[in-house]
Amino acid sequence: MKRKFVAFLTTIFALAATCLIIIQYYQTQRTATLSDNMFNISVNNAMDDVIIQLRNPEPSSGAERGINFQLLDSLITQELIVNGVDLSPEVGIMSPDLGEVLYCSAPGKERRMVNSPYKYSVEAHTGSPVEYYIVLFFSSAALFLQANAHIYMVMSTFLIIIILLLFIISMRIIANQRKVDEMKTDFINNMTHEIKTPIATIGLACEMLSDPSVNSDSSTRSNFVNIINDENRRMRVLIETILQNAKMSNKNFNISPKEIDLNNIINETVKSFALTLKNRNGSITADLKADPALLYADELHITNMIYNLVDNAIKYSPNEPTIHITTLNEGDFVVLKIKDNGIGISKEDQKHIFEKFYRVSTGNVHNVKGFGIGLNYVSQVVTLHHGKISLQSELGQGTTFSISIPQNA
Ligand code: ADP
Repeated sequence: MKRKFVAFLTTIFALAATCLIIIQYYQTQRTATLSDNMFNISVNNAMDDVIIQLRNPEPSSGAERGINFQLLDSLITQELIVNGVDLSPEVGIMSPDLGEVLYCSAPGKERRMVNSPYKYSVEAHTGSPVEYYIVLFFSSAALFLQANAHIYMVMSTFLIIIILLLFIISMRIIANQRKVDEMKTDFINNMTHEIKTPIATIGLACEMLSDPSVNSDSSTRSNFVNIINDENRRMRVLIETILQNAKMSNKNFNISPKEIDLNNIINETVKSFALTLKNRNGSITADLKADPALLYADELHITNMIYNLVDNAIKYSPNEPTIHITTLNEGDFVVLKIKDNGIGISKEDQKHIFEKFYRVSTGNVHNVKGFGIGLNYVSQVVTLHHGKISLQSELGQGTTFSISIPQNA
């Protein structure tokens, strides 16, 4: 999906959701007002009936002249139910001048009675002076529940929030998916380039070697043989990394551990990179202090891991690369450090470089071709050996990768 189209969809959705919330709000307000009015009418009707019965008490109704508070409470509740109000309010009696609360069904809440809007005057006969006022008090929670509209509003707001959250999550999934797609396209482009270049170089070197005039000069010949060796090793590491990475994506992937000496593997690596570094006026040194450096590990993966780190250290050191490898023992762990004097990695990029296909943006940092799977492979190898990987890096100063692997894993 195109970026602009996603932005367009997001804007339309945000506008639609905002309109929906506003319409919903006004609609609910209207319904709540209607519902409040209906409620007031029902309470007034019920109280009209109560007052009629108080003026003309029937022997069977239980309402008699003079106030029997208990009977008054039950009469009010009964009339409210008849009029569709399923709530039991607190009941009070106030003096004819509304100055004094004479009775309150909930002692201590007299002040609420004074402020209640539900006040009904009771006279002995129509037109005669007010004998007393009946006051009803509904708790605000009960009133809220009575006006169902408020519940609908809370529910619909809740649903709109859920829909909004789902929309945001979907958009993030789409954005991530697009990022992975872009990374995969980059990966294929880079792979084509990375494999084509050494093949072309090897082809050219072979052509030169087959030329009798070149072949007769031993130093030129050894130069071309070195080029072929270099390119061949580079391609082998690349292909090995791609294949192993694909294999590791399989959940059932297992390593084949055996006893190996890490120092020996490093010595081999140093030897194999020495010439490349000499050609670039660089150097590779090793200070192998780990004793013993024995690990129960997969030789192929550990070798590939070290090759990848050294290869990166050279690739990302544009000037004369100075690579230093150290091993040491720390408790039950063998620690391996690979230090370079290259371009370094910013703090922000350090958070992502172990992710599959992640490459530091080539814009202003480097223009070295790569796949973005080397460090992901390295971190998977470390995890498979129950180890830990970390790095220290400063832009423009260089990078040190540290790996510690338990000896008894
Ligand atoms: P690739 O080298 O193929 O791009 P990697 O997974 O090996 O992929 O590395 C990921 C990114 O980490 C690289 O694109 C590079 O920007 C950065 N990086 C790795 N090693 C170093 C290093 N030694 N110095 C500076 N940057 C590095």
